[in-house]
Amino acid sequence: MDKIKLTIDGKEVSGLRGQTIMEVARDNGIDIPHLCYHPKLSKTGACRLCLVRIDGKMLKTSCTELAGDGMSVITEDEALRNIRKWLLGLLLMEGDHNCLYCDADGDCELQRYAKIYNVEKTDEDFPRNPREVDYVTSNAIKRNENRCILCGRCIRACKEIQVSNVWGFTERGSQTHLIADDDRKIGESSCVKCGTCVQLCPTGALTFQTVSGKGLNWELKKESSICIYCGVGCKIDFYTNEEGVLVKAIGNDDGPNKGHLCVKGRFGFDFVQSPKRLTKPLMKKDGEFVEVGWKEALDFVAGRMRAVKEKDGPDAIAALSSAKCTNEENYLMQKFMRAVIGSNNVDHCARL
Ligand code: SF4
Ligand code: SF4
Ligand code: SF4
Repeated sequence: MDKIKLTIDGKEVSGLRGQTIMEVARDNGIDIPHLCYHPKLSKTGACRLCLVRIDGKMLKTSCTELAGDGMSVITEDEALRNIRKWLLGLLLMEGDHNCLYCDADGDCELQRYAKIYNVEKTDEDFPRNPREVDYVTSNAIKRNENRCILCGRCIRACKEIQVSNVWGFTERGSQTHLIADDDRKIGESSCVKCGTCVQLCPTGALTFQTVSGKGLNWELKKESSICIYCGVGCKIDFYTNEEGVLVKAIGNDDGPNKGHLCVKGRFGFDFVQSPKRLTKPLMKKDGEFVEVGWKEALDFVAGRMRAVKEKDGPDAIAALSSAKCTNEENYLMQKFMRAVIGSNNVDHCARL
């Protein structure tokens, strides 16, 4: 692709022909405010927060406008700042944004911009339409449409990434609102609980059930890990609260999943801290399972394998490994079977 040169806020930058102004700015470390734009989704230019001034006059949405060679872009001046402040004020006025009661408090793009632009709730009497609050029908997702800013990210995330097409807008103008399928409760819709729409929602309109009452967003600690459920090996950022309790799983962009997760990786982490989880080996003695040490358990297994091998030969033993293990663990398993037991009877669940 052709290279182009332009100036953004007086700084000479380069980009590729076909990139939008927003994309060139991001690649050059310049942040242009935005709410409906997300780099993983198609562009709509809906929220208007990313307006920039081009060549000293035209105002264009930088998420949809292509960057041009020789262009001069100003991302913020007094007029643009006032437009942003006004737009944010309208969004706050239209919804119910009491951050005190919101699970997104401290992790909300709308809240962040409201602080940056020092927007205060106006006293104007705007005719607000009370919208759906559904905290109960889905065990994965909480929904409060009074915090929805109609950015459409959830619609595009579900359609373009998850390809489930659950969300859509209905009605027109000030009546426009979000529906799941043909206006069903989220827990009764065709949602497969991948959580992608929640991860990409910029406000507290969609939140995870797992975070409720588990601590403040700015106190959570992040640790990156790999999902244990299948061989894809999706990268996940796990968040824990001050008590060390796992609170939420967010897809990490650097993994093969590129930030996407399925329902297992997203929500299947409660077993980690389950009190029912086995932490010591159990051996059956006199018909009852009793806790034993690792040495006793491993000596017993080794003794039984040796006895089988001596009686019926190494091919009487087979090993099934798992795609949930790492490559290194699977390598060790087959090496153990071939080099120690002397059998090629190895297989794993990913072939099934
Ligand atoms: S969605 Fe954001 S701005 Fe609105 S109440 Fe929640 S945290 Fe506050
Ligand atoms: S959780 Fe996944 S399937 Fe369900 S609505 Fe959101 S993106 Fe669509
Ligand atoms: S629910 Fe969230 S992502 Fe969907 S339109 Fe509303 S604010 Fe945007």
